[in-house]
Amino acid sequence: MAERTPIPDMARLYDQALGAYLGLAVGDALGATVEFMTPREIQARHGVHRDITGGGWLKLKPGQVTDDTTMSLALGEALLEGHAKHRPWDTRLMADAFVRWWRSKPVDCGNTCRRGIVRYLSLGTLAGPASDGDGGNGALMRNLPVALATLGAPDLLAPVTLAQARITHHHPLSDAACLAFGAWLHAIWAQPDPAQAQTALGVSARAWAQAWPQFRFEPYPGRASGYVVDTVQTVLHHVSVAPDLESAVVGAVNQGDDADTTGALVGMLMGAVHGASAIPARWVQRLDPDIRLAITEQTSALLALREAMATAHRTEEAFCLSGAAR
Ligand code: MN
Ligand code: MN
Repeated sequence: MAERTPIPDMARLYDQALGAYLGLAVGDALGATVEFMTPREIQARHGVHRDITGGGWLKLKPGQVTDDTTMSLALGEALLEGHAKHRPWDTRLMADAFVRWWRSKPVDCGNTCRRGIVRYLSLGTLAGPASDGDGGNGALMRNLPVALATLGAPDLLAPVTLAQARITHHHPLSDAACLAFGAWLHAIWAQPDPAQAQTALGVSARAWAQAWPQFRFEPYPGRASGYVVDTVQTVLHHVSVAPDLESAVVGAVNQGDDADTTGALVGMLMGAVHGASAIPARWVQRLDPDIRLAITEQTSALLALREAMATAHRTEEAFCLSGAAR
């Protein structure tokens, strides 16, 4: 007999899911101000940079986000569209969403993302060949909606993650990082107690860095570039040493360099652990209201897929059981 899945604490899960998405966006908005600066330049200009003020090399409005958040939203839209059109997990819908995103003239677009999108437009290929040049963090920064959408079907997390990633980035270290962060999000959301989730995250990050020594973050090498190894080391370092969400995000962005992306990923993991309620109110209030609304709506819609898939799985299971009984 199939066991009934226990009814989860939906309010808690919603807070942790929204926390991850809002954490991503506030980290992006905070970090973008100091993107490509050195820690010394940041200190000279801001002291400790801890408030969302816009500016930076992109001349952003306060609360404006960059590609990290807007590509995530585009990917999330594609996942929802796939389910609505009965083409779930169709990689072409994801690639089309990236094309629409690119044509909307986003404030920034990484070189590898642009190359992948242009390749899809000209050749129709959904994955490029493995390339040494694809080791940037652009696939990792946008994978959160895949983790949300596959909560009801965790066996799909890895294939869907790799499908979206390789539209633009085909590199073993990018793949490894995308898969690890996705698995950590699922593990965090399965653990409603923040203290235990934080401890478990530290344990699995250290174990993972044993298996992938390129990503070892203890001792922290101190580089925060857009190379996925530097990004991941910076994110894991700050997540494991900071006492709370705010200090982890502030610590990461004050490393400068790819500060919007390291800030976004720290905000995502810490928001998943501690929930939206743990994000400083002054950051959430400053966030672009359209982005805040889009994130809130998309989080609900992606979490709803979890219910839909649980039903689909039960139907399938019932079908298999009745087949076996014949
Ligand atoms: Mn960015
Ligand atoms: Mn960046």
